[in-house]
Amino acid sequence: MSDEHDDAAPAAQTRHVEGLLEAKGLLDANELDRALEAFASGGSPAQGARVAARAWVDDGFRTRLLMKANDAVEELGLSMGGGIQPQRLKVVANSATEHNVIVCTLCSCYPIAMLGPSPTWYKSEAYRSRVVRDPRSVLADFGTTLPDDVHITVWDASSETRYMVLPNKPAELPEADLAAMVTRNGLIGTAVL
Ligand code: FE
Repeated sequence: MSDEHDDAAPAAQTRHVEGLLEAKGLLDANELDRALEAFASGGSPAQGARVAARAWVDDGFRTRLLMKANDAVEELGLSMGGGIQPQRLKVVANSATEHNVIVCTLCSCYPIAMLGPSPTWYKSEAYRSRVVRDPRSVLADFGTTLPDDVHITVWDASSETRYMVLPNKPAELPEADLAAMVTRNGLIGTAVL
């Protein structure tokens, strides 16, 4: 039988361990917040993949997604919620002449609810600074070479606004097969499908 003290003990122990790890420089408090945010939102790249696949097979959904993504993803039972502050999701679509890449130049803001926790390189100083100055060479480092006539736009996220790329439709296949083709980096814009 547990009393109030016992119920509170795990939380207190967790805070104590967090404090020790932070004090020793082993844990970044923001990193932990992001992990908890991802856990709370249930975010993984599968969410973003579902959104992209639906946009490819349903023009009406695509239009709504590009206009007001927060409302559109709710049609799929998804949400940008989970945080204290509501996050605006802006989806930017690639085309034959336009390619989009996302970054947070200040820190590591990322559409966690759609993509799960961000990859380590996304948070790196090298990516954050270089992708803005020279996106083409950063994409080349990822093995992504775009034709010279494709214009690249880099979208800088903030605590209020998160971006996600809608890649070009990779094939004429049923929605579920399309969703399986979507990669995390495709939704970030460092890869094409
Ligand atoms: Fe940030």
